[in-house]
Amino acid sequence: MPFNLLIRGGRVLDPSQNLDRVMDIAITDGKIALLDAPVATEATQILDATGQLVCPGLIDIHAHVSRDLVSLAVDPDEAGVTAGCTTVNDAGSVGYLHLHPFHKYVIEPARTDVFAFLNVSPFGEVVLPETGFDILDETEFLKVIEANRDIVRGIKLRAIAELIYAVKVDVVEMAVRIARKAGLPLMIHLGMGFNEPVPAAEIDAFITRMLGKLEKGDILTHAFTDKPGSVFRVDGTPLPGLEAALAKGVYLDAAPGRGHINFNLARAALQRGFAPQAFGTDVVKLPEEQPHFYNVAAVASKFMALGLSLEDAIRAASCNPAKMLGEQDKRGSLRPGMLADISILGYHEGEFLLSDGRVGNLIPGTVFLSPKLTIKSGAIIPVRNSISQHIPEKTWMEALLMK
Ligand SMILES: [Zn+2]
Repeated sequence: MPFNLLIRGGRVLDPSQNLDRVMDIAITDGKIALLDAPVATEATQILDATGQLVCPGLIDIHAHVSRDLVSLAVDPDEAGVTAGCTTVNDAGSVGYLHLHPFHKYVIEPARTDVFAFLNVSPFGEVVLPETGFDILDETEFLKVIEANRDIVRGIKLRAIAELIYAVKVDVVEMAVRIARKAGLPLMIHLGMGFNEPVPAAEIDAFITRMLGKLEKGDILTHAFTDKPGSVFRVDGTPLPGLEAALAKGVYLDAAPGRGHINFNLARAALQRGFAPQAFGTDVVKLPEEQPHFYNVAAVASKFMALGLSLEDAIRAASCNPAKMLGEQDKRGSLRPGMLADISILGYHEGEFLLSDGRVGNLIPGTVFLSPKLTIKSGAIIPVRNSISQHIPEKTWMEALLMK
């Protein structure tokens, strides 16, 4: 019997197996069937990936994909298969009250595999800043999690200033308690507004106290923000409590979308050995933004420009987020038997200018990764041209800045 699909001639880069060489991959029944397929291998469909990177399917650990259940969110396939990602995780757009419509209206029609970290607010991000903590029914919350373990893989909490001065219940305590009872990781959004009515020392004390409550598997997202409530100073010095949390196995997720990164801070932190373990995008519906923020491959390219190796970048784009979702036995690797979730990426060399989302804050890069094709459970899905395939050539960026 011929295989369903043979991917020929690509540079296979799979950090989960320490693989980085040209080889052919055979796929059958939606799963990886054979690595190093011999030249004579027969397949119904053959895909030539010569000159391109063949990686485990990219995973966006921090996306907002609840469609119009929440006004800022996008369609999961827009952030997923048509942007080079085979799996996306909705990071707190919805709370436990909206999980049913999320399932029917978002997950079921999507070609992308979708998981969720439920917002600790019962209403999710329908209302911002989050609200409803006083009516939260913990027993009901845990019941919803229990009935939806196939989808719900974590709890999301935004560490915002309101939790210090306006909200009358201890939401951090509540989020930690629910996550521990459910046996799920907690994802913490870092970064508050620049002009919060709370003294900086009080914000730092709040963050340090929160860091002390984190356990192995929890995730700090927007890890390299320089806003109040960051875990790093601009010179890359960690806040008290960060190193102890990381030593326990807490992850750093970059999620630079919407100005949630300062390149100087990120470079300094990287030089001190604090590297991101995931490249969430924080993708939302903001058409006026420049096109290359909301794409895992683009985020990976930015961190390569800041000093990360290609191998570490691909590990953070695919293998690690699979673990964060508890899915490492199904995805995040090209081992035979795994889902045939594969991202085929263009590897561009040249002069690029990469932006952190703030005017004028640009870094040069010499390598840029762009998604070319997505293979989801063995099916080939084209990447949409306009956004995800955009490459920030230096000359194009300079012209944009002149406008
Ligand atoms: Zn977000």
